[in-house]
Amino acid sequence: MTVAQRVQRVRARLSGADVLLVSDLTNVRWLTGFTGSNGWVVIGPDSMTLVTDGRYGQQAAAQLAAAGVEADVLVGATGAATLEHIAATCAPFATVGFEATSVTYAQHGQYRAALTATLVPTSGVVEAERRIKDSDEIESIARACRIADAVLAEVVPSLGDGLTEAQVRNRLELRMRELGASGPSYDTIVATGPINAALPHHRPTDTLIEPGHTVIIDVGALVDGYHSDMTRTFVVGAPTALQTKLYELVLTAQRAGVAAVAAGMSVKELDGVCRGIIADAGYGDWFTHGTGHGVGLLIHEDPFVNRAGDAILQVGDVVTVEPGVYREGFGGVRVEDLVVVTSDGCRVLTASPKDSPCLPSPPTT
Ligand code: ZN
Ligand code: ZN
Repeated sequence: MTVAQRVQRVRARLSGADVLLVSDLTNVRWLTGFTGSNGWVVIGPDSMTLVTDGRYGQQAAAQLAAAGVEADVLVGATGAATLEHIAATCAPFATVGFEATSVTYAQHGQYRAALTATLVPTSGVVEAERRIKDSDEIESIARACRIADAVLAEVVPSLGDGLTEAQVRNRLELRMRELGASGPSYDTIVATGPINAALPHHRPTDTLIEPGHTVIIDVGALVDGYHSDMTRTFVVGAPTALQTKLYELVLTAQRAGVAAVAAGMSVKELDGVCRGIIADAGYGDWFTHGTGHGVGLLIHEDPFVNRAGDAILQVGDVVTVEPGVYREGFGGVRVEDLVVVTSDGCRVLTASPKDSPCLPSPPTT
């Protein structure tokens, strides 16, 4: 599967409109390889056109050629000129689908004024195909996972050295770049102690990592525009009985979730596997978020794995399995792996150890 073949998959899925006007930049990138900050793709029955502005004409041509994508590239010097290009490309068609979830009210007004066709709202057309990762995409995500695994392994032994959350974050992010990532996949989370670790998406502060603390580290790398996502939880020093109990509980739930992942399974069912184990142990209300989410060109994308979702897992979905428990005064525990759904279950892409929350013993020499 190549980038050039993706447009065919989208055409096959489009119904109710003659052409699709793609304005979501992540979708534009996935369809064409173009990474500029301003661009539209018009997908016709047998043609594809990229419209962008004067900053990106050369870049667009080069990136489309590198991706092997055949499309007309139209460059507008002004916003009005780019809109005219879009209108002219759509002019032969009676109905134009637009992406209802990414087009603002103001943009819709501009389309209505400029386009002669009837505008038809669509939702999730490209996103539905974007879910199914091809082998190149999976390899990029796997590389990102390997980088995150490597930097975490480097940094974990220093967690007992009196560093702050922010210092650990800085080391992780610097080393990811040095190992070939274009950056962190998201703002790295380092959350420690009874207050900060109780916040699932805590931002690192100058809080010192101290003996007795739980430390949640949620780290991912960015490779070729693709993200990775992984969380491990540690305890500095000997864990308390409650820390051990909750770590084992979350790990059991997380392993059960990974073992249950299968094509054809509903996301609700997968969420229930993890949530059921935690709830049965009496900690259901400590598990305050969904079990996981899709990962690709975005760090959070379809399918979202939670109680409310109605998606069905498919071969090629890349999703996290990340149950956790949080309570102010205790802190928190989360264990997260990234997996790709396969025809016989899943392949786990993240490989950092998760057997024990304990840090390796410090050297005694
Ligand atoms: Zn994460
Ligand atoms: Zn995640």
